[in-house]
Amino acid sequence: ASGSLGESIIPAINKLQDVFSQLSSDVKLDLPQIAVVGSQSSGKSSVLEALVGRDFLPRGSNVVTRRPLILQLVKVQPTAGQYAEWGEFLHLSGKRFYDFDRIRQEILAETERIVGSNKGISEKPIRLKIFSPNVLTMTLVDLPGITRVPVGDQPSDIEARLRAMIREYVRHPSCLILAVSPANQDIVNSDALDMARQVDPEGRRTIGVLTKLDIMDRGTDAVAVLKNEAVPLALGFVGVVLRSQEDIANRRSMADARGAERAFFEAHPEYLEVASQCGVGHLARVLNTLLVEHIRGLLPSLRQRIEEAVTSRRRELAMYGDAPPGNSSAARGALLLTILDSYASRFSAMLDGRSEHMP
Ligand code: GDP
Ligand code: MG
Repeated sequence: ASGSLGESIIPAINKLQDVFSQLSSDVKLDLPQIAVVGSQSSGKSSVLEALVGRDFLPRGSNVVTRRPLILQLVKVQPTAGQYAEWGEFLHLSGKRFYDFDRIRQEILAETERIVGSNKGISEKPIRLKIFSPNVLTMTLVDLPGITRVPVGDQPSDIEARLRAMIREYVRHPSCLILAVSPANQDIVNSDALDMARQVDPEGRRTIGVLTKLDIMDRGTDAVAVLKNEAVPLALGFVGVVLRSQEDIANRRSMADARGAERAFFEAHPEYLEVASQCGVGHLARVLNTLLVEHIRGLLPSLRQRIEEAVTSRRRELAMYGDAPPGNSSAARGALLLTILDSYASRFSAMLDGRSEHMP
């Protein structure tokens, strides 16, 4: 999947995460979570799915996402053969799903198990891990959309409940917010921007995502929004064209959808001046840049934690005396120490190098 999260990405972060995962569990390299907010059917699930580059989230015109989905992406080494990528649910731990259609079915089934089939909503999250060589180890959160009028089994205070549920995820200062608004509705009424502004008034961690550029009212366009003139956001807006319900019914592939997105921008000269800031690939790049900036901010404390881990390893090793060949624990410790030392300096050198190329 071209332009998905994790493809153009910072391999050093992956390697560093690998090293950290071999250390004690209290030394972890956490990337910020990325959560989607917006009104129902604005395209939140579609945006996340496009970023991951695989088909597996329930999407549709009705209330589809009815429980938060905490989606943990886990980078694994590529293996030969077809079983390189799989999903695993917390509620079915140990069971590997290699078929992404079955993952979607299980999300729907597990949603119904808790909230029934009549549009009920719950704040109890579903936890899914996707293991893949093509992702960066990090967490994405798919959330129910904001609605106002209770339907089916929904309580009368549905809007307040949804807002409270969503806020619980996006209020954390380390959570990046994808504020998803459909281009075929007036941006000044955007629930996404309203919610994002409440928890991130300065817009430091909010990226505007404008979906459905392809189905705007004839004679209108979203150029002013994309130029960040209509409702300015500190980090700006990214326009995308994702799959329609018809595309989903026709099982249009992810690669095909990205091609259609490119074709859309090429065929619409009004978007020429903003085309370089549009598309799923660009959204992935913007997120990558923010992730790098986040790591840069963590670097001083990371270094310190690495040094502490190295020191305690050394102490441990000293107890073994000179590591005799065949003492696997000591050998492993020594190896880890070497890797840690080299990554601590290489990682910071990489970030320093990278900073010159960042906007
Ligand atoms: P959510 O409720 O915010 O998660 O929205 P979904 O991702 O489920 O999308 C709602 C509907 O809008 C689905 O039928 C999608 O196929 C459709 N959709 C999403 N983005 C676009 C877009 O850019 N263009 C078109 N034509 N349809 C879209
Ligand atoms: Mg959804």
